[in-house]
Amino acid sequence: MEHDYGYMEEEIKTKKNEDETQRQKQEQYYGDLSDGFGRVARKLRISVTDRCNLRCIYCMPSDNVEWFEKDNILSYEEITRLTAVFVSLGVNKIRVTGGEPTVRPHIANLIEAISKLDGVKSISMTTNGLLLQDNVLRLKKAGLDGVNISLDTFRTDRFKSICGVDGLQRVLASIKAADLAGLMLKINTVVIRGWNEDEVVDFARFARNTGHTVRLIEFMPLDGTGIWRPDLVVSKKEMVDMINTNVKNLVPLHNNTSEPATLYSFADGKGTIGFIPSMSEPFCKYCDRIRITSDGRLLTCLFESLGYNLKNLLREGKSDNDIRRYILESMQKKPEGIISVIRAKALKPTLNIMNRIGG
Ligand code: SAM
Ligand code: SF4
Repeated sequence: MEHDYGYMEEEIKTKKNEDETQRQKQEQYYGDLSDGFGRVARKLRISVTDRCNLRCIYCMPSDNVEWFEKDNILSYEEITRLTAVFVSLGVNKIRVTGGEPTVRPHIANLIEAISKLDGVKSISMTTNGLLLQDNVLRLKKAGLDGVNISLDTFRTDRFKSICGVDGLQRVLASIKAADLAGLMLKINTVVIRGWNEDEVVDFARFARNTGHTVRLIEFMPLDGTGIWRPDLVVSKKEMVDMINTNVKNLVPLHNNTSEPATLYSFADGKGTIGFIPSMSEPFCKYCDRIRITSDGRLLTCLFESLGYNLKNLLREGKSDNDIRRYILESMQKKPEGIISVIRAKALKPTLNIMNRIGG
């Protein structure tokens, strides 16, 4: 019997290559990022800057802001390296946020670098939309999958009072542009009593008319201006009642516990509304997210003030393994979350401001 030895050798070589790839893949995976409460982190929010072109009243002071020193902000190379380390620990969904991510020059370069990392399932951005329209095609081309655009009002004068700048038309144009570019799109609306709770119904109608998912967010004590008070929080229940009475009855959708928003459709199936009830129904039990601040600290929880300094490790020349070990140890100390603060009746305005930690 004649053998085609050349062919067999080729087959053996291919098999060896496959085994090697499999071995390398296993080597790149270092176990899950679990915490002391049995939760596992899969989502990473990266704050790329603390700078912002708005001054939303619920997020940061309007003046005398103490910015991070430029040298203290992680470079794109540092962010990409850290992201790869997190991905090797089971993180697979990345969200770029800030501050305002679009004010950092060449942000699309970072999106591109992260989207090329093996193991990243999706990369999205949270933005105020002011500069998005001009960048949307470049971002999409770089690999961006989705955007959450913040919009708290449809009234020009009110936009200026809440956000400090006259920008409503630019945000509306960015919403259209993101939709046209084919990005997954959600609208984030922080609802505050006395400021915009009278527009909850308008947002519900907007969701029905445009087909965009609107997520109504309860005001959290992370404002940095000290204005937060319990009575300013408009609860999910109140918002559901307003919409049921004035628009149409809401029907809960099949919800995924790994998403902070509880999603509803309307009784006639037209439109989707989400609620992020961080205060009235905290979802800490299902928390699967962690954050990196723009100055390179790991925050395992929004309500953790200092966090763990990863920037120092990077700049001291530590290896990926050293950084992984430090991250795994830090995760074990992840606090239970806002739920324990609520339980202890210890809620108060905080100076741990959102633009610094990345909402
Ligand atoms: N600049 C971007 C933007 O505004 O979308 C990204 C950063 S911002 C800190 C991220 C999200 O956090 C926004 O949707 C914003 O509305 C939300 N946010 C900020 N402060 C908040 C607070 N005190 N309570 C609830 N949500 C807040
Ligand atoms: Fe800037 Fe976003 Fe904070 Fe508004 S919510 S001040 S846009 S970081």
